[in-house]
Amino acid sequence: MKIKVLLLTLSSSFLVASALNAASSERKGDDKSQILHETKKQMDEQVSQLIADRVDFKKTIEFQKIMKLEEQTLEAKENLLYPADELYGANWDNKWVNPFTGKEKVNLPDSFVVNCISFVFPIDSMKKVTSKYGPRRRRMHEGIDLKLQVGDTVRAAFDGKVRIRKFERRGYGYYLVIRHPNGLETVYGHLSRFLVNENDIVRAGDAIALGGNTGRSTGPHLHFETRFLGQAINPAEIIDFERCEPIKPQYVFRNIKIKGRKSNIYTSSDQNIVFHRVRSGDNLSVIAKKYGTTVSQLCRLNGITTKTIIRPGQSLRLIPSGSYKK
Ligand SMILES: [Zn+2]
Repeated sequence: MKIKVLLLTLSSSFLVASALNAASSERKGDDKSQILHETKKQMDEQVSQLIADRVDFKKTIEFQKIMKLEEQTLEAKENLLYPADELYGANWDNKWVNPFTGKEKVNLPDSFVVNCISFVFPIDSMKKVTSKYGPRRRRMHEGIDLKLQVGDTVRAAFDGKVRIRKFERRGYGYYLVIRHPNGLETVYGHLSRFLVNENDIVRAGDAIALGGNTGRSTGPHLHFETRFLGQAINPAEIIDFERCEPIKPQYVFRNIKIKGRKSNIYTSSDQNIVFHRVRSGDNLSVIAKKYGTTVSQLCRLNGITTKTIIRPGQSLRLIPSGSYKK
């Protein structure tokens, strides 16, 4: 290709030179050799300039490529060293699952796009979901439980940095929390063995631990949480646990506005919130069904559990599904 261009330029220069030569010879026949010589000289200069330009141009391109590559790796490195620092700032706590516990107020953005493309399912063979996210007995189950066998490999769901490696006898057992450059944090509980240390950088799919049955657990399983700025989000809103892949390549969290103010409640829905005034005979599942939503979302939006008694006249926040019509 390069040679072709060069040849084409050379041959056109030669044609121009011949034409010049022919024209000149009509006027001054005796100056013919002089003109020829001059033309050749000019042509040589043009060609060497052309080659020099091409080399320079090539050098510039190569240089730009290298610079870009270096910038990228530097950026990627920074993203891993300080994952999602645009959201978490200097907050790096090795103690609490919610890093804002007992600390500064969280500044929740209006909305945030989470890139899920690089997701890797945290266990190699998906057997079944043994417990879903949502209110369970008197407390909230803030993750999803995936059946496994003790010793099964547990993998990092995304690239990130290990924020917590701890043991909690009455809760998570041996557990890890990883912060990811995409803004999420993931929690892995009831592990039997750690394969990473606090502050380690991991890549999506890296083996980080072995599954187990430690802590408050009734059988070997992985307790898996997805959190955003400390708030637990239903992992099933982000990941399809049947297909073991993200529901969408990008996941958008929106901070619900109530009466024009940020509520610090997140949803993946882009629909607006509505209020339902409780009538006698209503219960959570009837209301949820009416608006095409789920009881767990209804509970989350209102900070209640399935056991909460609702009273006529009370207002509940709801995000109706697309099919709902007033
Ligand atoms: Zn669990």
